[in-house]
Amino acid sequence: MAETGKSHVEPAGNGSYHPSAERLEELGIVGAGGGGFPAAAKFRTRVSLVIANAAECEPLLHKDKELLHHHAEPFLRGLRMAMEMVGAAEGVIGIKEKYHEIIAALEQQAPAGVRVVPLPDVYPAGDEFILVHLVTGRVIPPGGLPKDVDAVVSNVETLMNIGLDRPVTHKYLTVAGAVETPITLRVPVGISIGEVIEAAGGTSVSDFGVLLGGVMMAKPATSLEEPVTKTTGGIVVLPATHALITRHNAPWLHVQRVGRSACDQCRFCTEFCPRFLLGHPIQPHRAMQSLGFETGADAMVSTLYCCECNLCTMYACPEDLDPKTVCVQSKPLARERDLTFKGDPATITPHPMAEFRRVPMRRLIARLGLGEFNNVGPLTEYAFAPRTVKLLLKQHAGAPATPVVKCGDRVRMGDLLAVPEAGKLGARIHASIDGVVTVKSDAVVIEA
Ligand code: SF4
Ligand code: SF4
Repeated sequence: MAETGKSHVEPAGNGSYHPSAERLEELGIVGAGGGGFPAAAKFRTRVSLVIANAAECEPLLHKDKELLHHHAEPFLRGLRMAMEMVGAAEGVIGIKEKYHEIIAALEQQAPAGVRVVPLPDVYPAGDEFILVHLVTGRVIPPGGLPKDVDAVVSNVETLMNIGLDRPVTHKYLTVAGAVETPITLRVPVGISIGEVIEAAGGTSVSDFGVLLGGVMMAKPATSLEEPVTKTTGGIVVLPATHALITRHNAPWLHVQRVGRSACDQCRFCTEFCPRFLLGHPIQPHRAMQSLGFETGADAMVSTLYCCECNLCTMYACPEDLDPKTVCVQSKPLARERDLTFKGDPATITPHPMAEFRRVPMRRLIARLGLGEFNNVGPLTEYAFAPRTVKLLLKQHAGAPATPVVKCGDRVRMGDLLAVPEAGKLGARIHASIDGVVTVKSDAVVIEA
């Protein structure tokens, strides 16, 4: 392992790069913060403000902060390009106020029209709706987008990828929790999470579970063979007996049964819900009623505007119930019945106590039982040489990509492997290593 703080980021192209949505399509750039929304589709709009989302509020993750520390130049270039694409005169970097040194450095380097807005160290600050409100005071309407309030939000790494002007072949992520060396790494897309964990020195416990993307909005890994995608921002290893592993793996039948009998309708889940506090029509305690009763349309409407931040389940509920999963499970039915918000968005105003109910990160970490883990993740160079990578055809919002290679083809890193289906939302996929291709139903595999 080499010196901390260095990695393979090169200057953009040949200096003749003019940003355009078509170019972002060619490069296969998608939201790297977890959503995977194709950047080309996001930036085909006209707004006056671009917000760089550096809030990074998942506990133990440090990827965005590390990129801003070590690779501010391509990030700022990408932010300027994004502003140019959408015609925005203003750019804002929303970053936690605790990162004093990084804020000072960014303020020195920021180009004209770009300013830094320090954010409170709370969860969730990186949710687009919350971030837009923290930065501008505007409230995105229920079911709306930032452009509805004249803004676009983009993750730090996404903007850096725009500034780099090269196909997306690698992903930055933090490996955290029960590993020997918590670390932030640049890894080839498609490498197995097991190999990435080894690069962090391996696990520090023998019996463990793995959460992908963070601990709050996590997806539990089913195997160490699972590949890293363009949206994997974190790999968190925890002892198999840790409550977070148990809770993320709880079967829906168990959630239903316990929720039906144990919910005392105390409303804590609703009173802490960041979207409720924003004034949106969501009340998770009403969704909980649906486990035992045929509830009214207002309870069902409620579930559609859940951002799945998991605060109600992991922090607020004194009974350790799972209102977030109840909301998620209720969404399809609410959509089917078209139970959307039909009111006037202008009437939506944040709760008067919103500011005082934000959940500080240190309290969240303590509540989640994560205090024993080293909360660092320095960006460190590591020479990965995977024998094989598996590039999923669906690792972005929209439809799976269609392969343009066939079994036996030899490819070089950066070569095009798959393209979006004509007329559908999607993203191109490029080779992350040199090798020989095998095309599968859900992925293109490359053997080095
Ligand atoms: S906080 Fe828990 S017990 Fe209280 S209403 Fe919500 S789900 Fe029920
Ligand atoms: S997960 Fe819970 S707290 Fe978060 S938005 Fe949904 S209902 Fe609200």
